[in-house]
Amino acid sequence: MATDPNCIFCKIAAGTIPSVKLWDDADTLAFMDINPANDGHCLVIPKAHFPTLFALAPEAFAAAGRTVIKVANAVQAALTPDGINLLQANGPGAGQSVFHFHIHVLPRQHGDGLSINWTPRPGDRARIAGIADKIRKHL
Ligand code: 5GP
Ligand code: ZN
Repeated sequence: MATDPNCIFCKIAAGTIPSVKLWDDADTLAFMDINPANDGHCLVIPKAHFPTLFALAPEAFAAAGRTVIKVANAVQAALTPDGINLLQANGPGAGQSVFHFHIHVLPRQHGDGLSINWTPRPGDRARIAGIADKIRKHL
C-alpha cells in the first residue's frame, strides 16, 4: 500500500498521530475533522496514499464511497442536520490543504452561511469527541 512518511493523513491512518475515529476497516478510515466547519464534520480517507483524485485508484474511490455512505447515514441519524454536503478538493485552487485524498462529510443547517471554502477554526476537542460518540452509535 502506498504511504508517504510526511503525510499527516498517512500518520493518522497508521495511528502514529491521534484522531477521533468513527470507522476503521482494511481500506478506509473515517475520523472527525479537527477544525469542524459545523458539528459532525468528518473526513473519509482511503488508507493508501493518493494525493488527489487525479492519482486515485478507482477501487480506493469505491472503498471510500462505501464508507462515506455508512458514515453520512450515521451522521444524519445522530445529529439530524438539515442536510449533508460531500466535499472533495483537488489542488490548491480548489482549497485542498492536505494532499491525501479525502472526502468531507459536512452536516449543514439552514442559514449556516458556509461557502465552499470556509476559514478553518480549531474545534473544541471535548465537543468533537462527544459528537463522535453519538455518530458511532449509528455505525
Ligand atoms: P482540505 O482543505 O484538504 O479539503 O481538507 C483538509 C481537512 O483536514 C481540513 O478540514 C482540516 O481541518 C483537516 N485536518 C488537517 N489536519 C488535521 C489533523 O491533524 N487531524 C484532523 N482530524 N483533521 C485535520
Ligand atoms: Zn497520505
